[in-house]
Amino acid sequence: MSAPADVPATAYQPVLAAEGVHGSRCTRCRRGAAPATPRCPWCGATAEGETFAPSGTVWAATVVHIDVGARQPPYGLAYVDLDDGPRVLVLLRRPEALTGGTRVTLAATDDPAAWAVADREVTP
Ligand SMILES: [Zn+2]
Repeated sequence: MSAPADVPATAYQPVLAAEGVHGSRCTRCRRGAAPATPRCPWCGATAEGETFAPSGTVWAATVVHIDVGARQPPYGLAYVDLDDGPRVLVLLRRPEALTGGTRVTLAATDDPAAWAVADREVTP
């Protein structure tokens, strides 16, 4: 399924700010979404704005080896389950296929095609 031609891809990307990831949480089932939605995508109830911590666990990741738009391969992508929120798609700072369960922290980037990059958390 592709996005409608008049809607930029960035409209589907969550927003990472200094205080965390902007999104919403359902008033009924309590599931989170990012970017924010006025209605819960799972049950249809009203959702309220919420900010999620920018840390989480990799659900799945891959390294892409083909050109997609202006991005030069190889680069890594990961779905990250935020600790207190939804699953989000992020660009990896380094092209490595992180395994599920790897802890990561999200950081903002100037890349307009990537709303955030994820770095592997370093345990002291
Ligand atoms: Zn819901």
